[in-house]
Amino acid sequence: MNKPNQIWQRAGKDLLDSLQSGPQGLTTKEAQQRLEKYGPNELQEGGKKSGIRIFLEQFADFLVIILIVAAVISAVLGDVESMVVILAVITMNAILGTVQTIKAEASLDSLKQMSAPTAKVVRDGKTIQIPGRDVVPGDIVVLEAGDAVCADGRLLESASLKTAESALTGESLPVEKEETPIEAEDVPLGDRKNMVFSGTFVTYGRGRFLVTGTGMETEMGKIASLLKTTSEKKTPLQVSLDNFGKKLSIGILVLCAILFAVSVLVRGENVMSAFLFAVALAVAAIPEALSSIVTIVLSFGTRKMAKEHAIIRKLQAVEGLGSVSVICSDKTGTLTQNKMTVRQLYVGGRVIPAAQADFKDPIQEPLLRAALLCSDATVNEQGEIGDPTETALVRLGEDFGFDELDVREHWPRLGELPFDSDRKLMSTLHQFSGGYMLMTKGAVDVLLDRTLLGPGEREEIERVNQSFSEQGLRVLAFACRRMETMEVSLEDENNLLFLGLIAMMDPPREESKQAVAECIAAGIRPVMITGDHVVTASAIAKEIGILTPGTEAVEGAVVEKMSEEELKEFVPKVSVYARVSPEHKIRIVRAWQEKGALVAMTGDGVNDAPALKQADIGVAMGITGTEVAKDAAAMVLTDDNFATIVQAVKNGRNVYANIRRSIQFLLSGNTAGILTVLYASLMALPVPFAAVHLLFINLLTDSLPAIALGLEPHNDRVMHDKPRPRSEGILTKPFLLSVGLEGLVIAAATIIAFHLGLNYGGQAAGATMAFSTLCLSRLFHGFNCKAAEPVIFTRKFWNNKPLLAAFAVGTLLLVAVLAIPVLEELMQAVALPWTLGLAIPGLAIGSMLVIQLLKAIRTGFGRKP
Ligand code: ATP
Repeated sequence: MNKPNQIWQRAGKDLLDSLQSGPQGLTTKEAQQRLEKYGPNELQEGGKKSGIRIFLEQFADFLVIILIVAAVISAVLGDVESMVVILAVITMNAILGTVQTIKAEASLDSLKQMSAPTAKVVRDGKTIQIPGRDVVPGDIVVLEAGDAVCADGRLLESASLKTAESALTGESLPVEKEETPIEAEDVPLGDRKNMVFSGTFVTYGRGRFLVTGTGMETEMGKIASLLKTTSEKKTPLQVSLDNFGKKLSIGILVLCAILFAVSVLVRGENVMSAFLFAVALAVAAIPEALSSIVTIVLSFGTRKMAKEHAIIRKLQAVEGLGSVSVICSDKTGTLTQNKMTVRQLYVGGRVIPAAQADFKDPIQEPLLRAALLCSDATVNEQGEIGDPTETALVRLGEDFGFDELDVREHWPRLGELPFDSDRKLMSTLHQFSGGYMLMTKGAVDVLLDRTLLGPGEREEIERVNQSFSEQGLRVLAFACRRMETMEVSLEDENNLLFLGLIAMMDPPREESKQAVAECIAAGIRPVMITGDHVVTASAIAKEIGILTPGTEAVEGAVVEKMSEEELKEFVPKVSVYARVSPEHKIRIVRAWQEKGALVAMTGDGVNDAPALKQADIGVAMGITGTEVAKDAAAMVLTDDNFATIVQAVKNGRNVYANIRRSIQFLLSGNTAGILTVLYASLMALPVPFAAVHLLFINLLTDSLPAIALGLEPHNDRVMHDKPRPRSEGILTKPFLLSVGLEGLVIAAATIIAFHLGLNYGGQAAGATMAFSTLCLSRLFHGFNCKAAEPVIFTRKFWNNKPLLAAFAVGTLLLVAVLAIPVLEELMQAVALPWTLGLAIPGLAIGSMLVIQLLKAIRTGFGRKP
């Protein structure tokens, strides 16, 4: 046979040599050099657009292209000025759009960086955590359940390792992995059992692998070119705005066509200038920017949320957060501090306070030893590493006379059955005076079922467990058994000998109580879902206000027995689910969704991924969560804190409100323009605007306030309302009605101005008046859109700095057009006497006051804002 040459055929040692690596891993220096040589471990993004491309895309609108063509034709026919102004306005608008798009993309990119996976690698002989993109060929990567595999490689070591490879091979079940070489030269991807691949996840066990390929050199990289074309998905809000925009566009186009026909056929106007006006009106009136405004405002929102510890992984989540009506949260670490301290022991028929624990006491000693040995945590001068439940146990041993290392050396670990939240047990196998000893710890009820107990003993233990739990303590039971062989399987966790109970306290987070209260005030139902005991969970839930009179605490088993229909009617009554398995979580989410709720659900483990995907907003824990959970989630909490979810909901509601403000501003302003044109046409008056006037307002002076309104400062009042119904769109009847009404008021001011100008100096003066008044009224209208109630004469009027700046810039542009003769001529404006000049701000402010008055009437004068 030939010398084996495929990675899976060769021995691990051989591969280590050829990649110049070893069991100690690479040195930091070598890794640095390799990073430069091979490049970062990431897939090249095909979709990244250059600034120029984004800029050019701003013109890729059918109507804009027609407008440019029409402008060029009219220039050929003699109207060069219009063309210059139209091109200038469109270009400035495109620059504005480009800057906003690039900014929005940058904030989304930085979010992506924040939620990028990390890897545990061995460097200089030590295991360290590094960003996945810094992994290089020759690195040794350590894997455990829940990790994302960050590169392709060959296993060097494995313990019951299983990975989920569906992203790569389509195989839906986890694949068992082991390190032994495979003889065959031709082995399909799915059968390369001694290799792991980038883009897959560890679902069980542990292992170590040698990195053989990174970045585009991985199997994922090979198919990445196929994935490049997937475009950014639009959010539901964008889809509904796009649909609305399409319908509106058709209406506007029909209207523009009629106006064009009337101008040419009835009034005998110049065909080219009438056409230019009709197209300009269409460009100005069709709100094609709506969906990009949504992207911009949402991405700005994500930046604020990231600062407040919530990283958004899907833009849709920001929108969804605003209408969350149920938050299902884990207990441990999310509502509580995840800082456990042992309070009580129960051993030899006695309850002993932790302070009196004593390993010299032969009755206590086996329990304390098991607590230390059956644990993966370590506690030393550098700190505590591992699960807080386990560090608490190790600390107990240390505090009362055990030396962790000593004990571990004396009774070395030979095997293990890792903890999983379904089984709620964990066992370790140790060398023990010439034989073997299995030590098991876990949930009391589960362990007692597997323990040999004398008459009455079980009742007594359960009574003690009950009394510990009522104090909100988390109780673990310990047991052991002698073993004949070194082989352990799940079957061995039976016929155990009871050692005792250890009860620990995990106090609620200080902010939980208030966050829960805030939730309830906002019409959101908080629900606790925990693996812990029902009595412990209830005690904590009562303390922080989740378990309220009239609602229940139940065990997951209850959920299991119910049909979908029964569960749907049952969920509203339940505030606490205890001893829950990940499958129960999915059913609970679904039942709430059937009831019409929009559900946020937290999770951290490998098994939580399906529930996180099922929830409308899957929330993963950033600190304790596995990569699998983070990958399935829409939002990651960098502080694992329940209060952060509530804060994110508040932000979601505010962002939604801001999007509404922008849309209201744009639509009502456009309505005013159209109504004025329609009025003039119906009354057989001259055209109230030149084409360039409409473009100037819509593409320049209006864009800035629209974006500024999207940045309106957030306020807490949004948390006094009920959640927005799941099915309610932004364009409700009352919303559209107020858009129409406000448009009408601004149109009235513009029409008055138009008449004043007409009377003074004919069409040119009339158009100058109408244009200036519409422009300024719309700038003032920005302040109207800040709130449903009047803001004038309140501090709120001044609290949005970007809006003030947008107002100032818009006003300056308008003044420049009216005051600088060259611009005046280009913009087809004429000089006005000072009386008319004063009428412009007069009418604009007047329109704002009328709209403020309407708001006062609608919200009822006396009601406190
Ligand atoms: P939550 O779901 O709110 O985070 P939890 O941490 O109690 O709560 P799990 O981690 O699923 O949920 O734990 C379920 C039960 O398993 C615990 O109540 C405890 O009895 C037991 N348990 C937890 N950690 C361990 C462990 N390291 N070893 C053995 N048993 C454990």
